[in-house]
Order: sequence, then C-alpha cells, then structure tokens
Amino acid sequence: MADGRGKIVQTDPELHQLPLPQLVESRYVCSEELAYLTDDALFAATSTRIAFTGNVGGVSSAPYESLNLSYTVGDDAALVDANRMLALEAIGAGGASQRLVSPLQVHGVKVVTVHDVATAQEEAAAGADAVVCAKAETPVLLCFADCTPVVCVAPNGAFMVAHAGWRGALGGIPGIALGALAAEAGCEPSQCNCYIGPHIGACCYETSEEILSQFVSKFGAGCDAGKRHLDLSFAVAVSLEDAGADSRRIIDAGICTKCHADTYYSYRASGGVCGRQGALAFRKE
Ligand SMILES: [Zn+2]
Repeated sequence: MADGRGKIVQTDPELHQLPLPQLVESRYVCSEELAYLTDDALFAATSTRIAFTGNVGGVSSAPYESLNLSYTVGDDAALVDANRMLALEAIGAGGASQRLVSPLQVHGVKVVTVHDVATAQEEAAAGADAVVCAKAETPVLLCFADCTPVVCVAPNGAFMVAHAGWRGALGGIPGIALGALAAEAGCEPSQCNCYIGPHIGACCYETSEEILSQFVSKFGAGCDAGKRHLDLSFAVAVSLEDAGADSRRIIDAGICTKCHADTYYSYRASGGVCGRQGALAFRKE
C-alpha cells in the first residue's frame, strides 16, 4: 500500500489474516428447517456470509422438492421466487433481494465483476459462470446439481462464487475467478479462503477416457480416481493453487451429491430432472 509520499507502507499480515476456513451446518427455521453449510468465524471476521444449500426447506414439489433455486429446470417460477427469498432470508440478505446477481450459467469461464449492480445483473443474464463482488448488500447466487460450487473470500470481505462442471473446471474457472477476486480486493490470492461445496464425488463421477486424460494432463494424475472416475475436487484445488491459493486455505465440504441425493440435488442420481441447490455469498453493510 503506498502512502501519500510514494513510500511503501508495510501492512501487518496478522491484521489482514482470515481465520482458517471451516464448514459447519447451520439451520434456518422457516416452514421446515432450511439447512446450509457456512463459516461463522469468516462471518465474524468479514461480515461476509457464505452458504451451500441443499434440497430441504423450500416450497417446490416433486421432482423439484423442495428448495429449488433455478428457473431453468421446469419448476414454477413463483415457487422458485419463494425459495430464493427463503435462502436469502436464511443468510440475512432478505432485504437485498432486488440486488441479487445470479448468472445464466453456460459452462464457460466468463467472470462478471460487480461494480454497478444493474449492469452486473445484465451481464450475468447474458451468460457467466463466476461473479466477483466487493459491494456490500449485494447477494450472489449460482445453482448446482452435481457440478462443483466454489466460493472464495478475501480478507476485506469481497468474494467470488463460481460454477465448475467438467468444462468449466478444465477451462480453469476456479483459478481465473480467484485471480479476478484478488485483483478486485487488492490482496494476494494466498490470503483468500476457498470453499469447495457439495458436488459429485470421485466415488460416483464416471466419465470418458478422453475427458479424464485432458484433466490428468492439465491438473495431474490425482484427477484420476480409477475406473474412469474423475476427482473434480482435486482438479478445482489445483486450479486454485495454480492461481496462488494457499492449500491451508482450501476446504472441501467432502459431500458427494449423488451419494447424498436425499439432501442434495443430483443430476445423475435423478436421471436428469431435478432442482438446483445454491452457493450464495453476501456481505452485510
Ligand atoms: Zn458418490
């Protein structure tokens, strides 16, 4: 940080150090209990609340029951509206719903950075797979059913939320979005906490030899879980580390959506028709 005379002012790293990441279950009691994974120490340090929701606590009925957060899967839009409001209320963002930035996800590597909210909402609607946000009172939501949600938070509370299916992961969206976050927050990527949410695990994610070999050549042999199973967590972590993340600041929820199809939406477990859970972030003023 430069002062007025152009000298470099050393900042005390301890003053800008986040608590190491953790993910614990929290419950918001509404009609039924809406459960989500979050990091309370992060919230205490930054006023930024992160959340990975599941399929419980909303108002949609089968095959979308019950907390479906996506408009693009065939569910009734009014029910999705209600579910989104419940999820926002659960993280203390109910009053900021008009400022929600939630992109049309297209399995690409485009990152929208929020400066003017209306402009960011327009850019997001045109297609993007990550959102960087340093603004308070501006919630961000991306939707998932087996793909990997990634949330990173900078020491000043700025955050990014990214969507990494195999295409996005291979394209490097986690690392690209972490780099964009660090640039926006004016910090090092190594200072950010990185959270990998529930997604289809290496236990269940069978893919083709061709896709698997592309992952191995880009991210290393650790992507290959045997029997043509792909370890997306490994690929996402390498993408984040290649972008400068500190491995001690990367946490993986360790929940396979297909193995836990009772509490999470899983595209593969459902045969392709299901709702979408969310990865959300929001910084209170
Ligand atoms: Zn599994």
